[in-house]
Amino acid sequence: AITIKQLVLWLETASQRILQQKSYLTELDQAIGDGDHGINLSRGFQEVTSRIQSTEYDDVGQLFNAVGSTLIQKVGGASGPIYGIAFVKGGAALKGRQEITIAEFSQFLHQGIAAIKSLGKSEEGNKTVLDVWAPVASYLTENGENTDWAKAIDHCWEHAEKTKDLKATKGRASYLGERSIGHLDPGAVSSAYLFEALFQTLA
Ligand code: ADP
Ligand code: MG
Ligand code: MG
Repeated sequence: AITIKQLVLWLETASQRILQQKSYLTELDQAIGDGDHGINLSRGFQEVTSRIQSTEYDDVGQLFNAVGSTLIQKVGGASGPIYGIAFVKGGAALKGRQEITIAEFSQFLHQGIAAIKSLGKSEEGNKTVLDVWAPVASYLTENGENTDWAKAIDHCWEHAEKTKDLKATKGRASYLGERSIGHLDPGAVSSAYLFEALFQTLA
């Protein structure tokens, strides 16, 4: 099972990681977007950290709701509402839970993905966060409690890498059409940092 303490540690670790990688994420977004992804997401996650550090959570649903609504409120770009809606909608089924199973975490991801798709009118293959979220969700659903966390980390980076070959068909990068090919999707890379932080926390 995953305890609420581990989930809080995950979010703090992810937030640090995104802050450390702020200029790299921004560089990636300079190539195919407007160059603010690192700024947007690090500000959002800093706000998340200060919010969750000021409260004692004993409910995973409440924790994820706080994370998601903070991201929605504090991030100006597309990534705030996209990450945020996933935590808000995905976390709704986890109300009252002090710890969750890997299967429940996979469920959370699947519901989060459905929320991203409906908000972003997007799907896998559009060169977005979904190209990491979806394979990570399937991987955890398949492997469950037997997940090898080191392999899960490799898996999410492999999928982030694969966005290089995709042509962007959603978000700002889609304005570049064919010229978006050959570049990593910034949101797929930040998603890989997010999940890497979780898998490191659970390993
Ligand atoms: P903005 O594009 O508004 O400047 P960011 O730079 O913070 O916002 O985030 C860009 C990232 O958001 C992209 O790299 C992509 O992964 C993700 N994204 C953009 N549009 C969508 C969408 N419609 N569905 C899913 N993800 C999206
Ligand atoms: Mg941007
Ligand atoms: Mg922007």
